[in-house]
Amino acid sequence: MDSQTNKLAFELAFDDGWRYAPAPESTDHIRLDKQYELFIGGEFVAPQEGRYFPSINPATEEQLASIALATAPDIDAAVAAARKAYGKWSKVTAAERGKLVYRLARMLQERSREFATIESLDGGKPIRESRDIDIPLAAAHFFYYAGWADKLGYAFPGRTPRSLGVAAQIIPWNFPLLMLAWKIAPAIACGNTVVLKPAETTPLTALKFAELVQDAGLPPGVVNIVTGAGDTGAALVNHPGVDKIAFTGSTDVGRIIQKAIAGTGKRYTLELGGKAANIIFADAAIDQAVEGIVNGIFFNQGHVCCAGSRLFVQESVADEVVQKLRDRMETLIIGDPLDKNTDIGAINSREQLERIRSYLKIGEEEGAEMHQSSCPVPDRGYWCRPTIFTGVSQSNRIVQEEIFGPVLAVQTFRTLEEGLTKANNTPYGLSGGVWTDKGAKIFKMTQGVRAGVIWANTFNKFDPTSPFGGYKESGVGREGGLHGLGAYLSLEG
Ligand code: ADP
Repeated sequence: MDSQTNKLAFELAFDDGWRYAPAPESTDHIRLDKQYELFIGGEFVAPQEGRYFPSINPATEEQLASIALATAPDIDAAVAAARKAYGKWSKVTAAERGKLVYRLARMLQERSREFATIESLDGGKPIRESRDIDIPLAAAHFFYYAGWADKLGYAFPGRTPRSLGVAAQIIPWNFPLLMLAWKIAPAIACGNTVVLKPAETTPLTALKFAELVQDAGLPPGVVNIVTGAGDTGAALVNHPGVDKIAFTGSTDVGRIIQKAIAGTGKRYTLELGGKAANIIFADAAIDQAVEGIVNGIFFNQGHVCCAGSRLFVQESVADEVVQKLRDRMETLIIGDPLDKNTDIGAINSREQLERIRSYLKIGEEEGAEMHQSSCPVPDRGYWCRPTIFTGVSQSNRIVQEEIFGPVLAVQTFRTLEEGLTKANNTPYGLSGGVWTDKGAKIFKMTQGVRAGVIWANTFNKFDPTSPFGGYKESGVGREGGLHGLGAYLSLEG
C-alpha cells in the first residue's frame, strides 16, 4: 500500500461507523425459559404462594424471565429436602462424591459459552469477563474441591473431618455463578447438602446450574436453589434446620445475619464489603500500574467487593499517574455487554445505578473534582461512565463508604508510613494493592495493610487454591483453598 492508500484505510477504519464495529456474541446457543420455578429435592417446583418476580436485562431494561418467589413454606420444603438428602450424601463414598463434583466441573466447561452469555444478559457484565473469568473460574472451583473430596484426612492431618449438615448459602449479584461455585463446591465436596439463594437481580445462571445438577445425577436434595429477595434470604438464615450459613453481600445485611444467629450455634462465614487501597509508589512501572488501577476499579463496572476504589499515589508521580489514567479512561468502551469490544457493561440494576449516582453527587458536594470519560452510552439500560475524583480527603464519604460502581477516589502520600496510615484508615479490610519496584516495600506494605488479600504489582487475581476473606467490617472467615474447605467441616481431634 502506498502512503495515500494507507492513510485512507486508516481514516476509514477510524471513521465513527468503523471504530466500534460491533462484535456481539450470538444468543442462538442459549435456551431460556419464560418462567423459572424453585429447584427443590431434584425437581423444579412452583412456589407455594404462586408469586413470581421479573429478572431484567440491565442493558435493555427488558424482562428475561419470570422467577419464582420463595416464601417460608418453600424454605421449609427446601431445608427438609436438604436434610433428607444429607442422610444419604454424607454416607456416599468420598470417591463417589468427588466424581460427581468433577462431573459438574466438566459440564460447566462444556456449556461455558451458554453460561457466559446468560451471565452477561442477566447481570450486565462484559462478555469478555464472563467468558474469560467468571465461568472458567467457577469451573476451576469445582475441579479444585472435587480433588479434595476423598483426601480430607490429608488436608487436615491428625484431625477427624466431619461434614456439618445443611448449609444455607446466600450470594450477591456481582459474580453470580462464581459465588455459587465458591459456596457449593466446597460444601458438597465435604459431604454437606445446600440450599442456595441467588440474588434477586441475577438468578438465571443458578437456575441453569440446577439443570446441570439434574443432568449430572446428583442425588435429589443435595443442591437446592430457592429464589427471592431479602425476605427469602432472611427466612433461610433463620430456619432452625440449617447448620451453617455462608453469606456474601453487604456489611449491613451481614450485621443483621450475625445478630439473628447469635446464640443459635449455627456456624457462619460472612464475606462483606470493602474499600481497598491501591497504592502506587513513584518507583513503580507507571504504565503497568495505570492498567492495574483500571482493572482494579473498572473491572465488572466496579461491582467488586475487593475493588481498588481508593487510589493512593506517591506525590512526585501523582500528576503523571492521574493524567495517564484519564487518557486511558477515555479509551474504554461502554455498552452492550454481549459485544466483545465492550470494556464496561451495564450497571446491574436501576437501584444500584441510583445509588452510584447519589455518590457522584455526594462527591461533588464534598468539594472533590470529578473527571468522567466522554464515551457515548446507549439510550436504554443502566450505565455509568468511568469516573475518578481528585482533591478528596480521608473523611469524605466517597473515600470511606463502599460505592460498588466504577468510581475511584484519588489521594496522594509522601512517605511509606503516610501511605500505610491512610490505607488503613477505613472500617473495611478485604483487599489491597501495592505497586513498586522494590521488594522491601512490598513486604512492608503487605504486612502493614490490614486486609485479607493484598496484591503486589497486580490486582484482582483469583485462584481456587487461595483463601479470600476480610478483617473488620469486611467479614469473618475465609473461602477458597484449604481454609474454604475447613469452613464446611468440623475438625475433631
Ligand atoms: P447488595 O447491597 O450488594 O445487593 P445485599 O447484602 O443486599 O447486597 O444482598 C446480598 C444477598 O443477600 C442477596 O441475595 C440478597 O437477596 C440477600 N439478602 C438481603 N437482605 C437479606 C437478609 N436480611 N437476610 C438474608 N439475606 C438477605
